[in-house]
Amino acid sequence: MEPKDSIEVIKNIGKTRAAQLNKLGIETVEDLVEYYPRDYEDRSTYVPLDEVEPGKVNTIRGRVCGKPEAKKIRSMTIVNARITAGKGFIECVWFNQPYVRNQLTPGREYSFTGRVTEKFGRIQMESPDYEPVNENSLNTGRIVPVYTVPNKMSQKIIRGCIKDAMDSVEGTLEEYMPHSILEKHDLCSREFAVKNIHFPESDTAFFKARRRLVFDELLLLQLHLLELKGNVCSKKSTVKIEDQDDTEIRKKIGFKLTDAQERVLNEIKSDFKSGFIMNRLIQGDVGSGKTAVAMIAAYIAVNNGYQAVLMAPTDVLANQHYKSFFDVFEPLGIKCELLTSGLKKREKERAYDNIETGYSKIVIGTHALIQDRVKYNNLGLVITDEQHRFGVRQREMLANKGDEPHVLVMTATPIPRTLALILYGDLDISIIDKLPPGRQKIDTFAVNHSYYQRLYAFIKKEAAKGRQAYIICPMIEENDKTELRAVISYTDELDRNILPELKVSCVHGKMKNDEKQEIMESFARGEIDVLVSTTVIEVGINVPNATLMIIENAERFGLSALHQLRGRVGRGSEKSYCILVSDTKNKTSKERLEIMCKTNDGFVISEKDLTLRGPGDFFGTRQHGLPEMKIANLYKDIDILKEVQQTAIELYKEDRELKSVENSLLRNKIFDIFTTKVKKICL
Ligand code: ADP
Ligand code: MG
Repeated sequence: MEPKDSIEVIKNIGKTRAAQLNKLGIETVEDLVEYYPRDYEDRSTYVPLDEVEPGKVNTIRGRVCGKPEAKKIRSMTIVNARITAGKGFIECVWFNQPYVRNQLTPGREYSFTGRVTEKFGRIQMESPDYEPVNENSLNTGRIVPVYTVPNKMSQKIIRGCIKDAMDSVEGTLEEYMPHSILEKHDLCSREFAVKNIHFPESDTAFFKARRRLVFDELLLLQLHLLELKGNVCSKKSTVKIEDQDDTEIRKKIGFKLTDAQERVLNEIKSDFKSGFIMNRLIQGDVGSGKTAVAMIAAYIAVNNGYQAVLMAPTDVLANQHYKSFFDVFEPLGIKCELLTSGLKKREKERAYDNIETGYSKIVIGTHALIQDRVKYNNLGLVITDEQHRFGVRQREMLANKGDEPHVLVMTATPIPRTLALILYGDLDISIIDKLPPGRQKIDTFAVNHSYYQRLYAFIKKEAAKGRQAYIICPMIEENDKTELRAVISYTDELDRNILPELKVSCVHGKMKNDEKQEIMESFARGEIDVLVSTTVIEVGINVPNATLMIIENAERFGLSALHQLRGRVGRGSEKSYCILVSDTKNKTSKERLEIMCKTNDGFVISEKDLTLRGPGDFFGTRQHGLPEMKIANLYKDIDILKEVQQTAIELYKEDRELKSVENSLLRNKIFDIFTTKVKKICL
């Protein structure tokens, strides 16, 4: 039997089962062998018969005492066997499995795993799995694998099929990993790994096996991403963007770019000139000034005769961008267009026309930009802001609207390099690592609720200076089950009782877009002193006069979210403050808040976040575009990921196309996973 044979060569797999397994992407024997358990059950300890625990799954061993009996009660067949060991005994029953009667040989010793019940003082084990006691057991008397199974297929069946598959390819499963890598990283053989991931011989064997398979999965993915990036970045571009004199727009922008901004801009300019399509990610902490860089890039594209679009994740943000672009571009005679789902039908129609005819050179909007109805005239540059909210697919859809335009992605979530390589493995990365001058550190304090009076006094003091404050609550409405602060009731209380002399308003996700928009604008104009909000405020909002950020139940937020929220203040030249209110006693939560008080550096915070709670924040939104992992878990396997990346980069440097004899099997495996398989799924 060959690993590449169809699964139908396996004894217990006929047409029906094969079809069921195909749906899970399992077609060949090798696929089946690489179908890893989703969990394990420890059935390795035998419980003495007189110590079984009713209500629980127990594993026992004993001899079958006499021929099992079969009874028919109405339409149900009940098989009953008496099991003995030493002086103890127990009844096992099976419902509607008449064949059990003939499978159990009287006098022979078996192990059984099943739920024990106690009814009317009678203890029995119900429908247990059973096997003769010997070293070949799969379902009892050991740690057993648990698989995600198709409907109607039992764990026992799939375990058996996988075992058969493994036996049938024993000795023929190809070791595709170069020997030097196995040695350097102390990895076990593929065969050992596969065997022990399904039916571990011991704990140590299991961990060895898992480490090897995680390493493989991540390495294959990372190499594939490097290859993709190589392909994308070496794709010839038909969009020719020559460098342009940008004095005019710099004058309009009004401030001098920081060195970090200049550096990133130069990287973009050299991409434009390179003759290849740009795929660049700009990572810059909140407030680092990504917008100005995007503006100049757009200006250069427009002056080369192209359109540039900017896609933002929310209407509010799109509107804000539109305003700042409008102020800069319109005086230079460059038309800007806004396209969001919030527009009236007539306005939309006009926008479509202006875009299609090429009258509007700069188009700013939300997802509305990628709808079929939108036709671009001559799209040369696509910019997406706060990209972690968009999936790779959406980015692609927008890029596909033009004739392979250049793509610039901006994100304010500082992502540790390790993760960036997996998340944005197909992009070149630029980092704006310095904030504009004159920014003051945002003083951050963690307090508990006994500080409220002082907190309110502080809000009043800032308001008296003409400054504004945000208060973030974790919930919109109150809820009997928790004592978390809720936006609506808290706003009411502040407005009526606590801060009656100030104007307090709120925004939250349940409001209509127009309504949100109006309040945000009113806040931006300084008509509202205190804005109570949920995290809708998190993304990109820019009100430089706001100097105070108060976060209620701060323990409820991840570090990266806290950092984003804090980034809403400290955007002007005034000293700003962030107060984290929390009564938490939890050690990790406290640690998080302490980190916030200690540093303002988003990269430091994201590294800490990763170690404290895993990359949840980065992958929080489902649309991260990351391929589903079979075995690796980025929460747990970050150390292996680091090892893998080092290896991938070295391999890529030494033998970019993995052409050497040593690397060729690895290359085939990557092709097999990412090209052959993916193609099949797409078809
Ligand atoms: P983000 O990177 O978070 O999108 P923005 O582009 O919104 O940041 O910039 C934040 C604020 O900093 C804006 O008010 C912007 O005008 C200002 N800013 C950006 N770059 C500079 C600079 N080089 N000098 C002074 N202010 C700047
Ligand atoms: Mg921004």
